Amino acid sequence: MGKSRAMVLEEFNKPLKMREFLLPDPGEKEVLVKVTAAGVCGSDVHMWKGEDPRTPLPIILGHEGVGRVTALTGERHDIMGNRIKEGDAVLWHRGLTCGECYYCAIVKEPSLCQNRLVYGINRSSESAPHLRGAYAEHILLDAGTTLFPVPGEIEHSVLVAATCSGSTAAHAFDMVSPSIGDSVLVQGPGPLGLFAVAFARALGAGKIIVIGGTASRLEMCRRFGADILLDRHANSSEERRQIIMEATSGRGVDYAFEAVGLPEVVEEGVTLVRPGGVYMMAGFGEPRGRAALDCFNHIVKRNLHIQGVWVSDIRHTYMAYSLVLQNPILFREMISHRFKLENATAALKAMEEKEALKAVIKMED
Ligand SMILES: [Zn+2]
Ligand SMILES: [Zn+2]
Repeated sequence: MGKSRAMVLEEFNKPLKMREFLLPDPGEKEVLVKVTAAGVCGSDVHMWKGEDPRTPLPIILGHEGVGRVTALTGERHDIMGNRIKEGDAVLWHRGLTCGECYYCAIVKEPSLCQNRLVYGINRSSESAPHLRGAYAEHILLDAGTTLFPVPGEIEHSVLVAATCSGSTAAHAFDMVSPSIGDSVLVQGPGPLGLFAVAFARALGAGKIIVIGGTASRLEMCRRFGADILLDRHANSSEERRQIIMEATSGRGVDYAFEAVGLPEVVEEGVTLVRPGGVYMMAGFGEPRGRAALDCFNHIVKRNLHIQGVWVSDIRHTYMAYSLVLQNPILFREMISHRFKLENATAALKAMEEKEALKAVIKMED
């Protein structure tokens, strides 16, 4: 029986440990995949530091991945209906939902499933089959995991972000979308914010404004279609407000997308939306405290719509996957750092220190 190496989080805030696991034989409709690229997500950093209450130890991190099928049992098809065979390159949806709880069956919002399992997030490597995260040479995908075909010409690393930040951004735009010509504010120019800029542009938004604190990330937003870039180190919140009001005829933006996950960002953001506008909150991956909001002046009196966005469902992964495939050259620029599997801890550090816009653990394609 073969073996597979994986980087395991055994203790919070400590370097991940390289461990070896026996390669499992896939059960009925399970798919064993050789990982070719694993995305390093901002939430991986929070999990590594013990800030995400969902994290069981030990765990193989990595909820974003692309790979090649090495073994499967029974008949499986990808989302396009193609029969899966060994050697196929696939991207998988990171979550598994039960289909039978109140949120799956009645509310029809699988992202709220109470039994949701996520590779690399709430599935420990403690017990067999162990390989349930993408920071590994192989991952075993359950029978219910949705698979997407990966075209031969694309670098696998370019697609990984579609499975988490891209998918979460898609979820927001699927719930409430800006209309053609609407002004859009994106707070936070990381991968989530970049996808928001790309979706807003693809959906026909008017002016797209981004607030951020890292010049290189803001510049990347321009390449993705943003018109006005506001560096929060270069101007005060009052100056930002003035610029945004001037750009929107004094009204504020029609649609704002929060992609930071800090209460003070929400406090600023809700005041920059026009009366009757929409404020989408997608940046909170873990508890970060409370925001002080002026409920009367900023929300009620202005008919503001505030919408939370929690994770995503399969159709959102499809939306993000499609967006990347429409412009892979642009999305390739988002990948700033590539690491070998054994350097996964350095990849987490590069994301933590914002040295990397998007880090990927790259095995062979
Ligand atoms: Zn459910
Ligand atoms: Zn993620």
